[in-house]
Amino acid sequence: MSKFVSGRHFLQTPGPTNIPDRVLRAMDRNAINHRGPEFGALGREIIGKLRGVFQTEAATIGIFPASGTGAWESSLANTLAPGDRILISRTGQFSHLWEQMASRLGVDVVALETDWRRGADPAAIGQALGQDSEHRIKAVCAVHSETSTSCMTDIGAVREAMNRAKHPALLMVDAISSLGCADYRHDAWGVDVTIAGSQKGLMVPPGLSFTAISGKALAAARVGGTRRSYWDWEPLVASNKTGYFPYTPAVNLLFALNEAMNMLAEEGLPNVFARHDRYARATRMAVAAWGLELQCQDPSAYAPGVTAIRVPDGHSADNLRNIILDRFNMALGNGLGRIEDKVFRIGHMGDLGVLSFTGTLTGVEMGLRAAGIPHREGGVQAAMNYLASANE
Ligand SMILES: *Cc1c(COP(=O)(O)O)cnc(C)c1O
Repeated sequence: MSKFVSGRHFLQTPGPTNIPDRVLRAMDRNAINHRGPEFGALGREIIGKLRGVFQTEAATIGIFPASGTGAWESSLANTLAPGDRILISRTGQFSHLWEQMASRLGVDVVALETDWRRGADPAAIGQALGQDSEHRIKAVCAVHSETSTSCMTDIGAVREAMNRAKHPALLMVDAISSLGCADYRHDAWGVDVTIAGSQKGLMVPPGLSFTAISGKALAAARVGGTRRSYWDWEPLVASNKTGYFPYTPAVNLLFALNEAMNMLAEEGLPNVFARHDRYARATRMAVAAWGLELQCQDPSAYAPGVTAIRVPDGHSADNLRNIILDRFNMALGNGLGRIEDKVFRIGHMGDLGVLSFTGTLTGVEMGLRAAGIPHREGGVQAAMNYLASANE
């Protein structure tokens, strides 16, 4: 039997994130007939609200019962055949996993290296496209918020670089940890496929993945892609009109999603983004006061929903996280891939009030002391000073 711990568990991982009580209540009910009239109306309402969150007028919306990884696979399978080529920037563990999946599907990958401490370089993408005079590259894949490093890629700038190179490749973006945290503009940035998941900024339990699909991507899927059945996009077109799914949808997760999107609308998306920015800024102030180092080295690329922090050489980030979990009942994100044990990540995305947020930083500061990690005191104070005067 595990030991009893009083008080609320702090789930400060960058996904899954805390689930608001309103969302929990919304899904705590009987399922409904997914072929009945009530479901069609719900489905249509959700498609409309998702378009608002993706900031798209007319993209086709896919909702698959899967984690975000499923939406990756559906986007690759619908648009790319074995032997087709993609361009991807190696910005961190999630670009790595997406690249690995493409390779497994027989897709030929052209990769641009980074040091995992910044976002993708739009100029380098433009240059690679410029050299591809035969247009063998069928898609540019980019991770908007690289959750492993807490660095953003400027998607609007990537689109501009593609336009300047006059290259017809599709632009496919993983927005799994930015949707609902950062301003994300599927239409304005000319994105062809946006990929998202339920368990990060959208505040819903894990289990749903989303795609927003442009007309151009849909047309590409009609004549190309690899063999697929369950993941095929074509049924989504009819489904978006009727609100019904070709299979049994995750009904109760959709109840949750609908309520979570009501909450985003009530707060207002610009306010949601500003709140995430405040917490991210306050976190960086705490890190600076502690004298620790951010994983992200480009100040224009700091992520709003997560901050990855390096521990000094010779110290273990995993030991720090274990102590914080054990002593203070708080879960933090671990370092992934090549920065395993070198960074810990504070998730400050989704449903988070200012006191839960400062409580999170308090747990980290106590943990730094308990784990014997060299640091200065006063990080929480620096964050509090800022938040006390930051405009709501
Ligand atoms: C969480 C995350 C994923 C993985 O999503 P799953 O839901 O675990 O499949 C992919 N990309 C990014 C950027 C993420 O943050």
